[in-house]
Amino acid sequence: MRKGKIIDTQGPAVEGYDKALAEIKAGMDVARLNRSHGTVEEHDTNYKNLRRAAKEAGRNNAILVDIQGPKIRCSWFEKNAEGKDQVTLKEGQEFTIIGDKSIVGDETHTGCTYEGIAQDCHPGDPLLIDDGKVQLEVTSVEGNKVHTKVTVAGPVSSHKGINLPGVAVSLPALTEKDEADLHWAVKEGADIIAMSFVRSAKDIERAHEIMDEEGRRVPIVAKIEKPQAVENLEEIVKTFDGIMVARGDMAVEMPFEQVPLVTRRCIELCRKYAKPVIVATEVLGSMVHSPIPTRAEASDCAEAILNGADATMTSNETAVGEYPIQTINAMSRISNYASEHGYDYIPQLKAEDIDLSNGGATAFSANELAKNVNAKAIVTFTENGDAVHQISRLRPKADIYGFTTNEHTFGWITLSWGTTAVMSDKKASELSREELLAEVDSKLKANGAVKAGDQIVVSLSEKGDLLEGNEQVILHTVA
Ligand code: PEP
Repeated sequence: MRKGKIIDTQGPAVEGYDKALAEIKAGMDVARLNRSHGTVEEHDTNYKNLRRAAKEAGRNNAILVDIQGPKIRCSWFEKNAEGKDQVTLKEGQEFTIIGDKSIVGDETHTGCTYEGIAQDCHPGDPLLIDDGKVQLEVTSVEGNKVHTKVTVAGPVSSHKGINLPGVAVSLPALTEKDEADLHWAVKEGADIIAMSFVRSAKDIERAHEIMDEEGRRVPIVAKIEKPQAVENLEEIVKTFDGIMVARGDMAVEMPFEQVPLVTRRCIELCRKYAKPVIVATEVLGSMVHSPIPTRAEASDCAEAILNGADATMTSNETAVGEYPIQTINAMSRISNYASEHGYDYIPQLKAEDIDLSNGGATAFSANELAKNVNAKAIVTFTENGDAVHQISRLRPKADIYGFTTNEHTFGWITLSWGTTAVMSDKKASELSREELLAEVDSKLKANGAVKAGDQIVVSLSEKGDLLEGNEQVILHTVA
């Protein structure tokens, strides 16, 4: 079984029911609806197609909604002679950015979505447009205007992103649009939320308030892309439910040579705190236009898994690329080969990071036992996903099966390394030991995971079970 999970960003290239089904069959585990692009209506249609296709394929797919966050964007540009809403900036020219999104841009200026931009900028600060393809340097600030000189020339068009690397932008964690998107995502039934441009652990608070208004807390993955997030990494990992290493904006906000080590640190901390971690952006970037990945990309994808990540993610490759299904196939092949043949390269959890709480120690014992008897599977029951994360972070060789009665936990644990979610009719606390083992045998035999006579390990540790304070690790022979 492939251990590393695959997240696919949705977009025009994979629109429609047939493509959703093709993505699932090619190996997609989690679909990502990116609210930086597309309308709510388009995402709603996608959402319904994805759910229907997963049912048809008999697969456990999760849906992640990515909230845009406080990304600063240019306003609209007037159309040029060729009818394009684009201008070309020349090196050395002056260009002004105005904190007013209603301003229509031209060769001399643009409006932007952040009213307070002038308060956060100082002479000498770099300003990057379109992921750094065009670069400016602040020369002076006047009222709501930031005057700049172009240092790297290039085209700029409507709605392109503006990054202020190193500047502590004083925008709220969620904009008005983000709040509306979050309400929509929770109502729609999303399994996972990703929050962009997280800066500190406190950024989760407003998102939780909104979820509480909707009556459901959805696991929130913090996208690490700002230097402030890297400074506050450990607190963010502890507070959020998981992490996405958002290497696209990270390489604009920070020197790109720092990205590989930040990625490793994110993976290490997530395993320490039993939180899933996704490595994102340009993993197979050239496949936007090519049916095969470059050698460097194949290595990058495999290295993410060999370094211990739970999942790798596609972005433009599947959203707007020419070869979306080939991309998923390629990612699946690379990830599968890496964990199957390179398992021993995946770092063991450091001794000092082993959690000796009841849940952590039970998971650790289950993994040791599974190793010693070469068990076919480790099974656990979970209502919030924690029991699965405790086992998954140890990266066991045995396949992990997370039994749950909660349809959203079913989606959430699908993101975890080596884990298959299984819908259970009853919680562990509602079953006798005999009933519980019979339920495990029947469900795992039905999906072909085990056969009579196989040895498996059943780990029961989650709070809320009748077993609380009496955690158990059972070595069981499938009947
Ligand atoms: C990123 O910046 O790497 C990322 C994943 O976010 P987005 O695709 O929203 O830019």
